[in-house]
Amino acid sequence: MKDLTQLTAKEINSGIKNKQFKASEVMSSFLEQIDAKDKELNAFITLNDKAMDLANAVDNKIASGEDIGALGGVPIAIKDMLCTEGLKTTAGSKMLENFIPPYSATVVNKLEQSGAIVIGKCNQDEFAMGSSNETSYYGNCKNPWNTDYVPGGSSGGSAVAVAASMAPISIGTDTGGSIRQPANFCGVVGVKPTYGRVSRYGIIAFASSLDQAGPFSKTIEDSAMVLESICGEDPFDATSSANTDLSFVSSLNNDLKGLKVGLPKEYSDGEIDGEVAAAVETAKKQLADLGCEFVEVSLPYTKYAVPIYYIIATSEASSNLARYDGVRFGHRADFKDKPAADLLDFYSRNRGEGFGTEVKRRITLGTFTLSSGYYDAYYNKACQVRRLLQQNFTDTFKQCDVLLSPVTATPAFKIGERIADPITMYKNDIFTTSTNLAGLPGLSLPVALHSNGLPVGVQLTAGAFQESHLLNIAHKLEQSIGFKGEIHS
Ligand code: GLN
Repeated sequence: MKDLTQLTAKEINSGIKNKQFKASEVMSSFLEQIDAKDKELNAFITLNDKAMDLANAVDNKIASGEDIGALGGVPIAIKDMLCTEGLKTTAGSKMLENFIPPYSATVVNKLEQSGAIVIGKCNQDEFAMGSSNETSYYGNCKNPWNTDYVPGGSSGGSAVAVAASMAPISIGTDTGGSIRQPANFCGVVGVKPTYGRVSRYGIIAFASSLDQAGPFSKTIEDSAMVLESICGEDPFDATSSANTDLSFVSSLNNDLKGLKVGLPKEYSDGEIDGEVAAAVETAKKQLADLGCEFVEVSLPYTKYAVPIYYIIATSEASSNLARYDGVRFGHRADFKDKPAADLLDFYSRNRGEGFGTEVKRRITLGTFTLSSGYYDAYYNKACQVRRLLQQNFTDTFKQCDVLLSPVTATPAFKIGERIADPITMYKNDIFTTSTNLAGLPGLSLPVALHSNGLPVGVQLTAGAFQESHLLNIAHKLEQSIGFKGEIHS
């Protein structure tokens, strides 16, 4: 029999429905793969010990002729930012080392309603703050193409789970690039939906005006299927959208003739690796062959995106993370030998032990930018520039249907190379943060292999709620490029 771990979610679902193989066989193949590979890769923090039972339940449904759903029997790996009822959810932090949520995120509920089976919870940067997975309390996750390299972050474990065929699909979150960047570093597809497309209910909050969950997969079609399952209005999230255009899969094969692709001129400024630039050229050539036209566009606020992002995201984080005080939420220090001197001492010991260095840095930064006297100079100013950046994107999408650009200036970097230098690490987010600030959908699609053996992708970005367009273009491009993404190690 074909190696089941190499199949797409779509192939797995139809193979189970057609009785070519069983859901339990699929699940045990993926669990074996995790067993063989994850000691080294460290993509999972927790495995779901109910996964095999749930797969058997799918087989019983098949035996009794019941419908198993569009993702029926498909294992899915979930970033540890999403609450899973009864299954430990750590956000990559010691703060939540023992947290077992009493409920599941809406995304998880919806996936389970479509028949998907949570196989485990994925490693990530602590509270999704990072670009390399090195801030995780649970140790580094490694890039399966070359384990000396980072997988990207913050959703590194979710990207690695798919890249190393330990799950056919996974879920990550993207606040400033955390789906697109690790997808790019690991040679898989990663999609960040429009802000509001996917409910944030039950997703541990980092920066609430930017956070969105989305899929990783080996193909655009699989991501389109996952998105059809997880998008939609949710009474538990007031920012979720009532937009009901979810015809993602049926639009995948639309003709691209006459579509306009915008090339942001500011995205080729600065130091971009020659082979990353070449990958964008390859994509451009393929899109031209598919009948697309090109227009140069200007996004003059690009140079402000990283500073605005790091003001707004840290401000929101400092507020969101205030709840982890060791009383109702989070790690409680051991006060047996040395009782707390006062309430402040109690809080600082809990928070001091529970949070890692990067999270503390962000809380400190965000508390500063929100503090009286600096609020107007930093937070307010950043919100004003964000508004201008958003308007600029709205105007730009009057001239084109989609933007084509690099995801990051270089492929994956080495473990340890940037962690001591936060500014260099933050600059890595130059091409991804604008999309979040403007609330737009974007994706990363693998295109080529770099001469250093690591994958390189391109980023496509569309106007708000234009996911069907975005996925259609990416699907056609994927087919004409034919990047296979097999790891030769
Ligand atoms: N690298 C960015 C950061 O560290 C993005 C994180 C994210 O999207 N969660 O904030």
